[in-house]
Amino acid sequence: MLAARLYEPWKLVVEDIERPEPPHGWALIRSVAVGICGTDKAFFTGTYPLFKSPIVLGHEAVGVVEGGPAA
Ligand SMILES: [Zn+2]
Repeated sequence: MLAARLYEPWKLVVEDIERPEPPHGWALIRSVAVGICGTDKAFFTGTYPLFKSPIVLGHEAVGVVEGGPAA
């Protein structure tokens, strides 16, 4: 699967990564759309320090459940 990951300010890399495995009891969601907020913009421009690297920007997401525990 593809992911856009920020390694440092202004260094956004689109790359192939392994499909994540959700922890027990969690669901796997395929993102359809993701919003970028002011904090994400600050990470990108370097006005707010990255707390980890690489980071996938965007946390206001819309998606489809791909797998998880039965309801
Ligand atoms: Zn935000």
